[in-house]
Amino acid sequence: MSNDRKTRTRLVHDGIRRSQYGEVSEAIFLTQGFVYDTAEQAEARFDKLGEDEFIYARYGNPTVRMFEERLAAVEGTEDCFAAASGMAAVNAALMSMLKAGDHVVSARALFGSCLYIVEEILTRFGVEVTFVDGTDLDQWREAIRPDTKAVFMEMVSNPALEVVDLKAVAGLAHEVGATVIVDNVFATPIYTRAVELGADVVVYSTTKHIDGQGRALGGAICGTREFIRKTLEPYLKHTGGAMSPFTAWIMLKGMETLDLRVRAQTQAAQQLAEALADHPKLSRVIFPGLPSHAQHKVAREQMNGFGTVLSLDIAGGRDAAFRFLNALEIVTISNNLGDAKSIATHPATTTHSRLSDEQRAHLGIGPGLVRLSVGLEDPEDLLADLTAALAAV
Ligand SMILES: *Cc1c(COP(=O)(O)O)cnc(C)c1O
Repeated sequence: MSNDRKTRTRLVHDGIRRSQYGEVSEAIFLTQGFVYDTAEQAEARFDKLGEDEFIYARYGNPTVRMFEERLAAVEGTEDCFAAASGMAAVNAALMSMLKAGDHVVSARALFGSCLYIVEEILTRFGVEVTFVDGTDLDQWREAIRPDTKAVFMEMVSNPALEVVDLKAVAGLAHEVGATVIVDNVFATPIYTRAVELGADVVVYSTTKHIDGQGRALGGAICGTREFIRKTLEPYLKHTGGAMSPFTAWIMLKGMETLDLRVRAQTQAAQQLAEALADHPKLSRVIFPGLPSHAQHKVAREQMNGFGTVLSLDIAGGRDAAFRFLNALEIVTISNNLGDAKSIATHPATTTHSRLSDEQRAHLGIGPGLVRLSVGLEDPEDLLADLTAALAAV
């Protein structure tokens, strides 16, 4: 595709491989394997894959490849590899490049499973990990050492919505030759081109905004061709975290509407955050788009939009939060985000229940905190639902 096409065009057209039938909608190649005309052809294909050649769905598949090429084009990276879930992608990005004795610096405010990989799995295999407060540049500066191999962070953390100064951290990391790995789920490919800010590897849970309709688990890793093909692919294809062709088709269709959905959801999130900012039943409304957000300035510099998620700290702790959740009529209680349906989550008792009270407090996850993923409903209906539920607290 020509290089000057804009994101919305790329989201609809990039990566398409049409079969001999010339179908309009991307075909689902629901096949595990591929037939070779001759033994010589099989031998040649295992020796070196051509662009339109495939061996086995764990190694690659035409529908999956369409999704990978579309996401790489939108992300602005040379290549992309799809994974079975966001966590398969995070795990592969880290495990494929690290070995015993390596040093990693990570922001502490992470999604529960990301924290598990960095804190429990990496260290079990002899990787040394230093955690920092991601919003404190001095802590990054102190923690990054000449032998640091990688730094890891979420671009807007889940669920405290902290925003790391990626450009500054990437600068520090690159001074020592460390690889910058960013989980960009919350910022989405629409709002932050993480590679332009210095990320080397960008990871997605495509379960979130890219599917956007709560249907399928998926993940993806974007980076240079060198990283994706030489470092990541051997790990992922041999350990089995491949995305299924059917899922890739869902993600391709999701990408067609990604820009429209994310912008509409963000606009609604901003509207709700502003409307609820001074609500007496809330001790805090956390949204990077509010001037009161501690990293509002960094968010403005690094994001073209502030995201579809806000967090509400309900005064009165867990009981008050539960009463609020139970009184919601439109907003559903669940734990996905980026969905067309608005979803409220109580992180302390669900996504982050594994942590101790102290660890949660450290991450800004109080007992009253509710994460609200804003969907595609009419914002007026959502505000009425939230206001009525707050009145029930
Ligand atoms: C959901 C999420 C993940 C994990 O993705 P799955 O698709 O559920 O495996 C990783 N990172 C962040 C920031 C997430 O929100």
